[in-house]
Amino acid sequence: MKTFEKIKELYPYQFAGKNIGLSIANGWLPEFARLCKDIDNLLGENNRGFHWVQLKEKFGSARYYWAMNNVNAPQIVDLIKPDGVATFKSKPKAKASDKELVEELNNMISEASERTMDTCIVCGENGKPDNLDYYTLVLCIEHKRARHAGEALDIWPSSEDDQ
Ligand SMILES: [Zn+2]
Repeated sequence: MKTFEKIKELYPYQFAGKNIGLSIANGWLPEFARLCKDIDNLLGENNRGFHWVQLKEKFGSARYYWAMNNVNAPQIVDLIKPDGVATFKSKPKAKASDKELVEELNNMISEASERTMDTCIVCGENGKPDNLDYYTLVLCIEHKRARHAGEALDIWPSSEDDQ
């Protein structure tokens, strides 16, 4: 699996800035590749310093944090309650000339992140949140069976493929 490396080669500027960790699960890579392409199309020639700050999994879904010149990127706050997690997201702030573009960009990224809530983290098939030992993963039927049978799940691209 070298998909993540291919994405970096196609859109190097999206991975050029400072980041605090970029990891995309195997099952979410195809969707993430589409997202990077859509962002590239939207930005056009002037990428405005857009880059990923952090890509990770949290509470079963993907979290995509980004930054761009002259934009206050949205903040994400999780409240952990007895009946689950409530997530709040602020709107990005941008100068007037970039406002519409930044809004569209933000919506694209939010929607892509939301789609991972029903996408198996291992294989990308339709999945549902599965709780085990207080840890939620979105899994298809087959990978849910594998998880509960104690089999190892191939979630993250291995480090040697990721070089
Ligand atoms: Zn699966």
